[in-house]
Amino acid sequence: MKKGKKIYEGKAKIIFATNDKNFAIQHFKDDATAFNNQKKASINGKGILNNRISEHILSNLNQIGIKNHLVKRLNMREQLVKFVEIIPIEFIVRNVATGSLCKRLGIEDGTILDKPLFEFCLKDDKLNDPLISKEHIFEFKWATKKEIEKIEKYLERINDFMVGMFRGVGIKLVDFKVEFGRYNNKGKIEIILADEISPDTCRLWDIKTEKKLDKDRFRKNLGNLIQAYQDVARRLGIFHEQTNIRPFKLLEPTAVKIKKSK
Ligand code: 5GP
Repeated sequence: MKKGKKIYEGKAKIIFATNDKNFAIQHFKDDATAFNNQKKASINGKGILNNRISEHILSNLNQIGIKNHLVKRLNMREQLVKFVEIIPIEFIVRNVATGSLCKRLGIEDGTILDKPLFEFCLKDDKLNDPLISKEHIFEFKWATKKEIEKIEKYLERINDFMVGMFRGVGIKLVDFKVEFGRYNNKGKIEIILADEISPDTCRLWDIKTEKKLDKDRFRKNLGNLIQAYQDVARRLGIFHEQTNIRPFKLLEPTAVKIKKSK
């Protein structure tokens, strides 16, 4: 498969076309952004770790029947993926209240939720990814009822699987965000899990100490992000020295720019 032109560049990834229209190459960058691009940095090695961690989680999900876009990891930073039309919705699953949920509704940080809470946000940076309801999704035809029903079943199973997987290695899965896409499988449109699942897209707390092992280390200026991501990879049994990340150098953002909000 030959790598073609850049089709899309997001905050943490680039999607390249290939010579087969059904496949694309997903490239993981070291860039980190938060607060809708107001805080930016490049964190040496983050892309390599997210590539490995996401590959691990998506291949495990595939084994339990959650269809997803991953075909195979190609190298340190790239994966061959099925080319999908991304549904413009961020699907958030929460097990513990934190982050925007607490800010929005005044719920106490760390409150354990009785059952997983699903939230839908419109994928639109200009609008700050606003929270939307299912009625909005159907009214504006961002997805059909059938698609959302299927996705909700997937969300439940993805959450069950990941809660167990992380619990087994001493990590609490607090919440996560996933994206789905429409894949044209020989004329039949299938809904499949796309994008990535990594410490960039999940909140992961150490079960005993509640130490944050995810992107909140960047958002909240806690430092040592790479060590935390390495810790996640190591606990999942996928960290290996070949990744060539120097763990004790260039650990912190090499450039942090904070724009004042208007
Ligand atoms: P919150 O809504 O509390 O900020 O985020 C909930 C969960 O979804 C967190 O795990 C967070 O990392 C993830 N999440 C929400 N929006 C985004 C986003 O735009 N990018 C990434 N990488 N993760 C997000």
